Amino acid sequence: MAALQLQRLSREPFDVGKLRVGALYFDNKVNELTRVPATFPFTGGFASVLGMIGPEYSVRIVTESLEAEECDYLLVSLISAWSYCCLVVYMKRVNPSRRPYVLVGGPFLSTTAALSLCADAAFFGRCDLPLDGILAGGAHPSLWRKTEDPECVGMYELAQPGVLHPYEAGTGCPRRCLFCRYTWSVACTKPALGFVSRNRFRPGEDFFDAVDWRQPRVLTAIDGLTERTRLLVGKNLTDATLRVTLLRAASDLELHGISAKIYVIHAYPWESPPSDLTSLLGVFRSVDEELHGTRHKLTIALQFNHFYPDVFTPMQWEAVNLGDFVIGKRLVLYDGRSILVRSTAFNSTPLAAIIRTVCTRLRMADLWVVDPFIAAITRHEAATATVTRLMSFLPSYLLSRLDIGTPIASAVAPTHDVMFARASSYRASLSCLSILT
Ligand code: SF4
Repeated sequence: MAALQLQRLSREPFDVGKLRVGALYFDNKVNELTRVPATFPFTGGFASVLGMIGPEYSVRIVTESLEAEECDYLLVSLISAWSYCCLVVYMKRVNPSRRPYVLVGGPFLSTTAALSLCADAAFFGRCDLPLDGILAGGAHPSLWRKTEDPECVGMYELAQPGVLHPYEAGTGCPRRCLFCRYTWSVACTKPALGFVSRNRFRPGEDFFDAVDWRQPRVLTAIDGLTERTRLLVGKNLTDATLRVTLLRAASDLELHGISAKIYVIHAYPWESPPSDLTSLLGVFRSVDEELHGTRHKLTIALQFNHFYPDVFTPMQWEAVNLGDFVIGKRLVLYDGRSILVRSTAFNSTPLAAIIRTVCTRLRMADLWVVDPFIAAITRHEAATATVTRLMSFLPSYLLSRLDIGTPIASAVAPTHDVMFARASSYRASLSCLSILT
């Protein structure tokens, strides 16, 4: 309800006599870095946080007609590396003499060094408390303030959910895929009731081995091109499980066609693009040959997302593999009698992995690269040559230290035990998670 009121109030002036809080939200369009979206999400954590601010504050949404200079405080939700880049660009527009106090939060937050360019304070993790105390200058274990930690050397806790928002049936995931921040940074609530977050799935969406394949539309993920990779990253999906599941699904192809969208993370540090993709397509081919033709087809759309070493996960310090992983959009990858496999129009490129990694691994001494780096992103985002071009803006010593572009030949796959040992030590430290610069 509070979020709806905020939406209606977005274009009204601030209440006279109250402290002025502007809420700034960016969508994910890196080629529109200076544009503030005209709409604001009705739900979500940011809307809930804004709804909890006390009556002594007047809260408005920053739009083209309400600029940051009119605010005493600017609250910003960073949902991605793109939105971080947007904020860096946006703050350059703000008149320094009328600059509001900038407090950032959101799922992208992980390090303080990069934030020091554009924010005065940051709240790490889930913010389920009224912000009044923080706006008034109070301290919190999850709060970084530039004035108190200008060199960004402090340790901060990753705040965990205290309450469920109205749209939430649960938080976190009980599975432990090693690449997935959601399971490692957000506690899984209500475990006694099972995986309640499944309620948040859309119709037809679920884990690969749990989704109802009798439906005409299925949405799921396998997150690894090969069985070896899936087992290494804790996905625990064998080729045999893929085959058995698809064969079971195929029994409905006599009644109706099935359209499945499957997310696949690829370009893990140890992967090799052509052979690993061939391995996955081989599974689909073997199922297709076993079916001997069906009345309708199973159409599989694979959406390839380039692996990036996400913060707070056991894979946080893995390398970014820049092998030849760019897979064309809407390509037919396999066309059999019962199964058609193609790529979607939304495959992510190594570009996103590079940007995320640079933003989260930068140290204070590296901040000079941010401006030319963001300028390079805006100029070359759509070009195929972007990765090479973008990397030319980063000195080789930095690429080496950030572990971007490690040659595939030198990448060694960690063993299953090593990965899970890392996971264990990571979990042990979760209660006092440090935010490293
Ligand atoms: S990737 Fe794995 S851990 Fe993350 S939400 Fe999916 S199943 Fe859960």
